[in-house]
Amino acid sequence: MDCIFCQIIDKEVPSDILYEDDKVIVIKDIHPKAPVHLLIIPKKHIVSVAHLGESDKTLIGDLVLTAKKIAETQGLKGYNLVFNVGRDGGQMVDHLHLHLLSGKPKDLP
Ligand code: 5GP
Ligand code: ZN
Repeated sequence: MDCIFCQIIDKEVPSDILYEDDKVIVIKDIHPKAPVHLLIIPKKHIVSVAHLGESDKTLIGDLVLTAKKIAETQGLKGYNLVFNVGRDGGQMVDHLHLHLLSGKPKDLP
């Protein structure tokens, strides 16, 4: 599949991986918009929040709880969690991902 995040998940494309389990991977954003800019990505290919179904409730919880866990292990005191949805919402990669930004973001992504 021609999806950059699926390729990262499959290790066909290299990335800085901070955390990984059977459902979620956390990588550093290649173009950070804040001193800490991570992407929490489900391994399941879902296009966006607009494509979530009732059966994805647990998965969305996993993303947010993973963000919380990473923030704790990184010692972050405060942070922003952002889902961009659709082109008009600033989404460029059509594989669901949660941005975690910390330390004076220049702009939300
Ligand atoms: P979006 O605009 O879709 O919400 O965010 C996509 C994010 O993915 C952007 O912040 C962009 O910098 C990041 N990104 C795009 N391609 C790659 C890549 O190949 N590797 C990594 N680590 N991040 C990427
Ligand atoms: Zn994908």
